[in-house]
Amino acid sequence: MKRTKFIVVTGGVCSSLGKGIVASSTAAIFKSAGLKVAVMKLDPYINVDPGTMSPFQHGEVFVLDDGAETDLDLGHYERFIDTPLSSFCSVTAGKVYSEVLTEEREGKYLGGTIQVVPHITGKILSKIELAAKKMKADIFVIEIGGTVGDIEGEPFLEMLRQMRYKYGKDVLSMHVTLLPYLAASNELKTKPTQLSVRELRRMGVTPDIIFCRADTKIPKALLKKVAYFCDVDEEAVIPAETAHSIYEIPLKFQKYNLGKIVSDKLKFKRLKFKLSEWEKGVMAMKKAKQILTIGLAGKYNELDDAYLSVIEAAKAAGFAFQKKIQIQWIDTEKIEDKDKNELQKLEEVDGIIVPGGFGNRGTEGKIQVAQYCRTHQKPYLGLCLGSQIMAIEFARNVLNIKDAQSEEFDEKKKSKNHIIHFMADQRKITKKGGTMRLGAYPCVIKKGTLAHKVYKNAKVSERHRHRFEFNNKYRVQFEDQGFIISGTSPNKKLVEIVELKNHPYMIGSQFHPEFLSRPFRPHPLFHGFIEAIVKEKK
Ligand code: GLN
Repeated sequence: MKRTKFIVVTGGVCSSLGKGIVASSTAAIFKSAGLKVAVMKLDPYINVDPGTMSPFQHGEVFVLDDGAETDLDLGHYERFIDTPLSSFCSVTAGKVYSEVLTEEREGKYLGGTIQVVPHITGKILSKIELAAKKMKADIFVIEIGGTVGDIEGEPFLEMLRQMRYKYGKDVLSMHVTLLPYLAASNELKTKPTQLSVRELRRMGVTPDIIFCRADTKIPKALLKKVAYFCDVDEEAVIPAETAHSIYEIPLKFQKYNLGKIVSDKLKFKRLKFKLSEWEKGVMAMKKAKQILTIGLAGKYNELDDAYLSVIEAAKAAGFAFQKKIQIQWIDTEKIEDKDKNELQKLEEVDGIIVPGGFGNRGTEGKIQVAQYCRTHQKPYLGLCLGSQIMAIEFARNVLNIKDAQSEEFDEKKKSKNHIIHFMADQRKITKKGGTMRLGAYPCVIKKGTLAHKVYKNAKVSERHRHRFEFNNKYRVQFEDQGFIISGTSPNKKLVEIVELKNHPYMIGSQFHPEFLSRPFRPHPLFHGFIEAIVKEKK
């Protein structure tokens, strides 16, 4: 077997510099040369996994095929490298500590003293080795979350030092830093970068490549200065100036020969980087002029990161039709209060997405949004909770089941009609994550339905994250009135896709199609949604 080479990405000066984009762009460049690549995230926080972290603080929870609930960065990785990752690719300090503590309780350390070095650092390294083996990657890119200098991050940097000791030239260190702009002197400053690299070197790690983030053009002289003060080759100081779209980044880096610089350092021979798919995709994005406004009726308004994959999927579908997507947030609590401005938005937007969500807040407003879309022929895409909302609305207003409700929102058990109820075979679920149905499951699509038309396929696999499902008791009643169950689990027991007859596009999925959408290959449900809007506008 070929040896895996490692690239470790750290960040300096401050957070939110886009380490994830640097990691995944690098991986994408090498994938274009025919290598097998994978990306991993190490998060120094103490949570055991990101599944229970608030989207307010942390953005969306991204779900992998195997059901792992991960940081949104894994979503970037998958979108950039178009390779399904595994739960092994997401490791937090919490997970590392909890494993070490469990082993200690089991007596595995034979009474030895358990210490950050070597036990915690060793465990982190073993997690990397395990993930690299699992992913069988030629190049394995590892992003260390946080910023150099964080207290929590120290064991991870010490691990990196040990890793370089163990694997020598097979490990490449990349550091992403900021060159802040000072308006008073009209210049970018390199000192924070110098200090950040000094801190990294204090931990025993010298970067091989430095990416300098800035919102403006970086003068050559400054790049040279960074190289000189940070002891890095001049060509290996790469400007990472803010781009129009993150999908331009692999192309921009390649302009600075990133592929060649990395291959020389990691001793890969004669690689040919073929980024034509990226070039075509970015060109298509640039051609998009006309704007489509999509209403997003979620819970975390104005918080792009909480719906990152949904927004990316909508944008990708827009680009396929040379349209730019603009998001209009719809606050469904305001809809409940009959706020005129908010109600007006329903009219103004070209189509509405009701994304996934948990808890009661704003759900009555979401039901009103679904009712508006159904009665006004407005394209509607329901994602997980959004599909459940679609069913409740239909039950109340078409089937006249006035107390129709989801068991999730009926703690006091006031309703006799749980159209959506706790999953019947919940107890059989053995996948990780406690009570949720997580990860990829097959879905069979009925011929002759809208779903079949957009998927052009009868059997698909989609990613899930839910506890509740459509109550089969009501199936016949719904279908008799034009609410079609177009996708189910192969044994037909679980409703997966629902759609409305006599509507240009009102469709909902119990799964999350957004996780499988790719920048240049939008997901069929999003593609169909935008196509319906484009047709409506003609
Ligand atoms: N809260 C709903 C459920 O658990 C929907 C979940 C979701 O939208 N991801 O079934």
